[in-house]
Amino acid sequence: MAGLLSGLAKFGLSDLENAKLFEEEKEEKAVAAEPQKKKEVVFEEKDYLYDKTYDCPVCSRKATAKTVRSAKLRLIKNDWDLRAVYEGIDIHKYDTVVCNSCGYAALTKYFGPMLGSQIKQVRENICEKIKWTPAKGDTYTYEEAMERYKLALVCTIVKRGKSSEKAYICLKAAWVLRGYREELEKANATPETKAKIEELKKEEEEYLQNAMEGFVNAKMTEEYPICGMDQTTLDLLLAELYYHFKDYTMASKIVSAIMITPGINKRIKDKAYDLKEEIVQAMKKEKEA
Ligand SMILES: [Zn+2]
Repeated sequence: MAGLLSGLAKFGLSDLENAKLFEEEKEEKAVAAEPQKKKEVVFEEKDYLYDKTYDCPVCSRKATAKTVRSAKLRLIKNDWDLRAVYEGIDIHKYDTVVCNSCGYAALTKYFGPMLGSQIKQVRENICEKIKWTPAKGDTYTYEEAMERYKLALVCTIVKRGKSSEKAYICLKAAWVLRGYREELEKANATPETKAKIEELKKEEEEYLQNAMEGFVNAKMTEEYPICGMDQTTLDLLLAELYYHFKDYTMASKIVSAIMITPGINKRIKDKAYDLKEEIVQAMKKEKEA
């Protein structure tokens, strides 16, 4: 996972660039309210956004983050790994909170109360070292969004957050990288954009791999709901991830278990059947090759 946290040196956190993602798990409860959503008729990316204020659990000052007004969002599609794509804005760029005073960062969902020991770790390893310059634009660029995710990830490592929290950051960061790539794919294919697309694809795979690893850990050590997902939702996501990484045996095992789970809803059941079919086809192809 060499590149996962690359770029943190820019913020004075070079010694954390190689921090281990899944080490020394610790139980912890941190619950934050979902952002308040308002209604407005808008079309430009900046018009979907407003500044929401949070209380920083580390320095007690106010932290603001650009937040998406969800009322007018129009869903275009859902990807295989649950990424939702909306018209006019990539909402996944806006799911982190960074405290501009002390540098503590987390996913919006997890920017809330922390244990004293966690605060201490963040103060010593992040706040005392970080040189963070807040973005000044009306929107976050993809580069800025990724910097925020990397900061959230390293803060979660430092505070010894749960596997699920780290996995969720990795999953969402992968979505941001995919959005970035798709944006570039729409532009003119210069050698520079082609190279950048390849780089983003690689990075996305690395984040997905770590998300998978983290959710597997979470399944063994945490209780449901995990990141808001019930067991079948998470199992289906894991099956999709195993399938994506061509581990058809594991994917098949999980999806077969989902299919015989009593009482699961039709949408999940249909998805499980579709995936099972894809796995069967892929296994056939693999045998023929
Ligand atoms: Zn703070």
